Amino acid sequence: MERVSFPPLSRVAICGGTHGNEMSGVYMVREMQKRKVDQAGSASITTVLSNPRAVDACRRYIDQDINRCFTDALLSAPLTDSSPYELRRAKELNAQLGPKGSQEAVDLLCDIHNTTSNMGLCLILYSVDYITLHIYKYIQSKMTSTPVRAIQLDIPLPEAYSFESVGKHGFALEVGPQPNGVVRADIYNMVKEAVDLTMEWLQAFNSGSSFEGGEVEAYTTERSVDYPRDPTTNEITAAIHPQLQDNDFKLLRPGDPTFLTFSGETVKHEGEELYPFFINECAYYEKKIAFHLAKKITLNFPSISGHSVSDGHF
Ligand SMILES: [Zn+2]
Repeated sequence: MERVSFPPLSRVAICGGTHGNEMSGVYMVREMQKRKVDQAGSASITTVLSNPRAVDACRRYIDQDINRCFTDALLSAPLTDSSPYELRRAKELNAQLGPKGSQEAVDLLCDIHNTTSNMGLCLILYSVDYITLHIYKYIQSKMTSTPVRAIQLDIPLPEAYSFESVGKHGFALEVGPQPNGVVRADIYNMVKEAVDLTMEWLQAFNSGSSFEGGEVEAYTTERSVDYPRDPTTNEITAAIHPQLQDNDFKLLRPGDPTFLTFSGETVKHEGEELYPFFINECAYYEKKIAFHLAKKITLNFPSISGHSVSDGHF
């Protein structure tokens, strides 16, 4: 693949509190604001507490999940008196950091999340974006304290629903395990290290460094699995099986246990071999998801370099 040259990433947003009870991002953003971090080399940094009312209430959201509000359809729908708070706030954020899909949008948006699942550090990426793939490769090569993985969502930009899709390039940092409303130093440090490495990469890129292409592994969702339920009451009748619990990204084979019913029976995985993740994520009970199942894919990407305005290309 040929080397691809990109203009500098001069406007960057670091966001947390998109889900108000995911504390790493809340404290990371507050700390950066306290220290008045607004510059990384030549790039300007904006720090944003995305859902302040949910943060105050220490809840995932007030009216609805804001991280499902950033589709073109929802962002362009008119507000009414009965519009949910998160839809109003999504429009504000889109005005501040977007508009999504436009030249005015920030160059890079990093949105910090926590999961109650044992997923280590994951970057969630939309489609194939050479910038975010290079950041992923860089973080992965430098971080030794935890596994670093990528989850690729194959969704066209207009339908992309999460906050990071507002930036020209963007990714979510999903780090766990951490209970909702709790801040753990080990998880906080993973987030801090990933944000610092992103800034380090950005400054090298903006000063004209080249980065070798290559390939990385990523996970792409095949399907989601719900808990076993009572057909009349719809209540769940089982918990994640102890042999599956905390084994995110460990290949699940046909016949492997997935659930243990409250009456003591083991439910087994059926179908093809796939990789489970977001196992027993607290926020997904209401979404009727016990875990997702993914395929592992390989993504190839070219060498890239940043060039300054003085290169004369732009
Ligand atoms: Zn979240």
